[in-house]
Amino acid sequence: MRNASNDQDEPAVGAQWRVLCLCEITNFAVMRRHLGRTRTDTLAADVAQQILSVCPEAHVVSAARALIEIGLACDRPEAAAGEIDRLRHVFQRPVEFDGELHQLQMQFGVAAAPADEGDAVRLIEAAELALEQARSESRVVMLDLSRADLAFDRLTLMRELPRAIAAGEMFLQYQPKVNVRRQEIASAEALVRWQHPERGLILPGDFISVAEEAGQIGALTLWTLHQVIADQKRLAADGQDLTLFINISGMLLADTGFVGEACEIVARSGAKLGFEITETAVIRDPESAIRHLQTFADIGVQLAIDDYGAGLSSLAYLKQLPAKELKIDKMFVLQLTSSNRDPLIVRSTIDLAHALEMEVTAEGVETPSALALLSVMGCDMVQGFLISRPLDFEAFRKYLAEDPYRTSVGSVQSSFVRPESFWKRA
Ligand code: C2E
Ligand code: MG
Ligand code: MG
Repeated sequence: MRNASNDQDEPAVGAQWRVLCLCEITNFAVMRRHLGRTRTDTLAADVAQQILSVCPEAHVVSAARALIEIGLACDRPEAAAGEIDRLRHVFQRPVEFDGELHQLQMQFGVAAAPADEGDAVRLIEAAELALEQARSESRVVMLDLSRADLAFDRLTLMRELPRAIAAGEMFLQYQPKVNVRRQEIASAEALVRWQHPERGLILPGDFISVAEEAGQIGALTLWTLHQVIADQKRLAADGQDLTLFINISGMLLADTGFVGEACEIVARSGAKLGFEITETAVIRDPESAIRHLQTFADIGVQLAIDDYGAGLSSLAYLKQLPAKELKIDKMFVLQLTSSNRDPLIVRSTIDLAHALEMEVTAEGVETPSALALLSVMGCDMVQGFLISRPLDFEAFRKYLAEDPYRTSVGSVQSSFVRPESFWKRA
């Protein structure tokens, strides 16, 4: 197959950089519903034509149903960034298909490499990595391959993961969720970390998607599950019988083998556990995801919808999920008291969740003023650096033993006048 990265094997005379941009139509499914299947078969090719009319110098190829590759040769990566920004602006307005205007949603993942660095595979891998980040961060991501680490790092991590899990390099930290009205710790979330012998601490943002790609996410999650069960039991023995939540990658919700094994482990353990899942995971394969979530709920696992609002959200699925908790993504909470729009979004999400008989947790609560506003809005639980950073198990155990909330008899209102130092624990 022709592709834009191969077309660029011979960079234009004078060009010192090769740039590959992967442009994904993220609302492809919606477009297909509007236009019908036959018409959308050629959608990417039509979009490719439109891109070409904006960037006539580029090599533009439709690479898949919803994916277009754009190859650029330029004297500096910044020039390519300018072109892509121009494209982004063009597609922010509705575009015409068959005489009708449609709003496309696009994400751009870009990789740039010096032209004398001839490795096309590295360039495309870096562009794929950039697109993945662009999707999760909803912004254009550009990776510069002249910075030695990037794509290589990912491949190395992928190779090292199985050994790392077996060698005990993974560990968990716990972050409490506090019930606002009762002012007590309601539960805690387990967050996995990788203590790499040479690179030091690696956070999940840098290896969860690697684990998914390497087919290791099932093994990693089962390891987490065993660890959390052991920790939950140790806490229960301390008199702190908290529900501990684990993040379950969307990919695993469709994996019948994983679901069966996880259910068996949970049922056998008798531990109080919860699973956090993102709603986007459900949208990918709603039927099996909802069925598997129901299986988890049936054996007593509490379900929380994670990062609500960050990805595609669909009220149709939300209604069908057997979840008791909705976690509002921190992107809406971090700017709560400085933005005009975010308080409206948060407020209406809280009302929506309550109408669906779910409790609401706000993630990313960093300031007393955000906490105060969330409480007034009726938010049930808060999680964030204001209360505590994620803590290693022993530190978390000590934190619980200090009993910062259970002994507190103050009303919710009085918590707002407490000094910031009261809430900061880590
Ligand atoms: P998440 O589940 O939304 O977890 C919350 C993230 O927000 C954590 O990042 C946490 O450290 C961070 N956070 C908590 N409070 C605050 C705050 O007040 N301000 C800010 N700015 N950030 C805050 P972390 O630990 O880097 O985890 C990132 C993501 O990685 C998690 O997002 C979760 O989706 C994923 N993850 C973590 N552990 C696992 C796991 O065991 N399995 C899977 N599949 N994913 C995991
Ligand atoms: Mg989570
Ligand atoms: Mg979250």
